[in-house]
Amino acid sequence: MNFFHTKIEFLKGVGPQRAGLLQTELNIFTYGDLIQHYPFRHLDRTQFYQIADIHEDLPYIQVKGRIRSKELLGEGRKQRLSAVFTDASGELELVWFKGVKWMNTSLKTGAEYIVFGKPTIFNSRINIAHPEVEEATEVKQGQSYLHPVYSTTEKLKNHRLDSKAISRIMAELLKLAATNIPETLSPDLIDQYKMLSKREALLQIHFPINTDKLNAAKFRLKFEELFYVQLKLLRQKTIRKADLAGQIFKNVPTLTEFYNNHLTFDLTNAQKRVIKEIYKDLCAGKQMNRLLQGDVGSGKTIVAFITMLMASDNGAQSCLMAPTEILADQHYVGLKQFADKLNINLGKLTGSTKQSERRKIHEQLQSGEMKIIVGTHALLEDVVQFQNLGLCIIDEQHRFGVAQRSKLWQKNPRVIPHVLVMTATPIPRTLAMTLYGDLDVSVIDELPAGRKEIVTVHRFDAHRLRVFGFLREQIKLGRQVYIVYPLIEESETMDYKDLMDGYESVKRAFPEYQISMVHGKMKPQDKDFEMQRFVKHETQIMVATTVIEVGVNVPNASVMVIESAERFGLSQLHQLRGRVGRGAEQSYCILMTNYKLSKESKIRLETMVRTNNGFEIADIDLKLRGPGDLMGTQQSGVLDLLVADLAKDSKILQESRAAAQLILEQDPTLAQPQNQNISRHIQSLKKNTLNWSRIS
Ligand code: ADP
Ligand code: MG
Repeated sequence: MNFFHTKIEFLKGVGPQRAGLLQTELNIFTYGDLIQHYPFRHLDRTQFYQIADIHEDLPYIQVKGRIRSKELLGEGRKQRLSAVFTDASGELELVWFKGVKWMNTSLKTGAEYIVFGKPTIFNSRINIAHPEVEEATEVKQGQSYLHPVYSTTEKLKNHRLDSKAISRIMAELLKLAATNIPETLSPDLIDQYKMLSKREALLQIHFPINTDKLNAAKFRLKFEELFYVQLKLLRQKTIRKADLAGQIFKNVPTLTEFYNNHLTFDLTNAQKRVIKEIYKDLCAGKQMNRLLQGDVGSGKTIVAFITMLMASDNGAQSCLMAPTEILADQHYVGLKQFADKLNINLGKLTGSTKQSERRKIHEQLQSGEMKIIVGTHALLEDVVQFQNLGLCIIDEQHRFGVAQRSKLWQKNPRVIPHVLVMTATPIPRTLAMTLYGDLDVSVIDELPAGRKEIVTVHRFDAHRLRVFGFLREQIKLGRQVYIVYPLIEESETMDYKDLMDGYESVKRAFPEYQISMVHGKMKPQDKDFEMQRFVKHETQIMVATTVIEVGVNVPNASVMVIESAERFGLSQLHQLRGRVGRGAEQSYCILMTNYKLSKESKIRLETMVRTNNGFEIADIDLKLRGPGDLMGTQQSGVLDLLVADLAKDSKILQESRAAAQLILEQDPTLAQPQNQNISRHIQSLKKNTLNWSRIS
């Protein structure tokens, strides 16, 4: 049996009760799980904060000093222990609400301690609740000054399984494991990147002898983690390319006619390049799986249409699926005029399509008469069948799950349709490489000529009158205005109240103008009606929630006001801003907030004011929020990273990807002796996904 599958309760110092807790609290079942419970940081036992320098924005800090006094406050279950802790520079309060009696007897007044925890302000005094406390001892020569800090939980702490206890168990495990750790990378790789061995890396990540070794251990483990993710994705890609046939779309007569007679603007170079990339895929005889990234307004829709013409010119049908009804309508209206000129039957299918109309569409799709269908997730229904679906285009991909995508593929039982996924959320390269390592990526990195940079400003609520004055000027110049309110589900009722209040105050402030309102709780028809009024310029102001976030195109709207802007994520702000700047006029985005702003909100607002570059914004967003948040982790599975951080480790990601690529080129089946460690590790990773110890 594999040593690392040994159940944790057999480890000295653990036993059944603690094993149960480690399982339920930290998901640690086996030796393998425990050894991968890497410390989330290390304490440098030679580095301390001066109490006078501590402020509440600091994360965890370490101080050295003495308990000057302590006292029990409160009664019964509300009892707490408060201690005054001092160093030469000042004093702070330590406080415990749990394990009060035990702490009270073990803490010695006057003795020197090292205290570790998160400072906060309470009653205008620095306070650390439930700090880790350890008697101060000299760091001896040759002894490590870096101590691991492990994540743990309140429940574990209450059972004396704090970070220090975990580190004792870990030391036990590493003693046993030392002779059992197999190498998981090839000697070549280890040589080339001067990496620590797996064994050394595991020892050093937990108990490093110095900072250099710790960094080397981190590098090795991150590299390995990312390497195997990339290897897996790249192999899937090769398998897919080798196995899945795709229809060939070589002929382009209608497309040529469209270029020559109906396209009213010149394509940007980026659009041309992307179209070439797609055409090459479609002529290759293999199924296309391509991600098309392009900032808002970069002109993805026309690329989609051109791709659909390639399909229809070769006897195949296409579908274009959008995440919302409004967006589907807009695509339909925009593309219908081209399709009519080209004599192509193009239809629309959404949740609100009437039954009779629906039946007709179903028939025309099945007979092959209808060449292009634009719609929402209504397209996924089983009754929607095609004569020969050859191409699926999915717009604003982040709203759709993988399962939904695969439902579309199944609509052609003979040949899997080509897939083009379009996203306006510019995914940072590092993330795209990891999330879509199995997709090919095209990027439209250029906006159509003549677009003016959107001017973005941040204004406080107190200056609302001035902002309204500016809006009035713009409306007088013939422009239209969006005013957007946040809508976050947990506090829906509150948010609707904000929206309604806002609508009323806008109505009062602009009695001379017509105002539309759109929000998610409206019936689709009503929403559509209001939207159309705004599109037709019957209304000057659109008060809305984020339902207008995605895709809506009203070139005459040149001002975007975002209320409570601090409540929006960065990429959402950028999406919203993308609703303006679509016409020839100078456009504006005004971010409204009150004075109270967190540090992160400030960074978000500053970033918006500083740049219009979607990729830069996405990078900062990734750093602020972490990748899981950005994409919705359900899509990835690959984002379950233990050590690597996509926001910070892009260089290692690139190196590991290049390494994986090279190895697969030289040895696609990983059969050569020098890659033996790698193929063995892949086998053990596969087995691990079915972990028997968790079932019994
Ligand atoms: P997005 O990439 O955000 O989906 P759209 O496809 O909606 O962008 O395009 C935004 C606007 O730019 C549309 O009005 C479209 O007709 C126009 N457009 C697209 N490509 C060009 C181009 N090459 N030159 C001028 N206008 C263009
Ligand atoms: Mg779009």
